[in-house]
Amino acid sequence: MRLRRDLTCRELVELVTDYFEGALPARVRRRFERHIGKCDGCTAYLEQMRVTIELTSRLRTEDVPSEALEPLLVAFRDWHADGA
Ligand SMILES: [Zn+2]
Repeated sequence: MRLRRDLTCRELVELVTDYFEGALPARVRRRFERHIGKCDGCTAYLEQMRVTIELTSRLRTEDVPSEALEPLLVAFRDWHADGA
């Protein structure tokens, strides 16, 4: 990936998982956060992903009704399929 310009929305989406895992190099993370700072769409997407990740990780210890999680899990799968 070339990084001499701002990230595109698509590139940002592909980096979201690494961002949440803290796996992005500082340089890339700064570009990521710069894009988030000026892109409402990606800000909303990031927030949605954060909630999804919280819910899915909470599944391990709490009893979350599966019908409440299903749409989020489907969205998560679709995103992975699309990003491939
Ligand atoms: Zn964007």
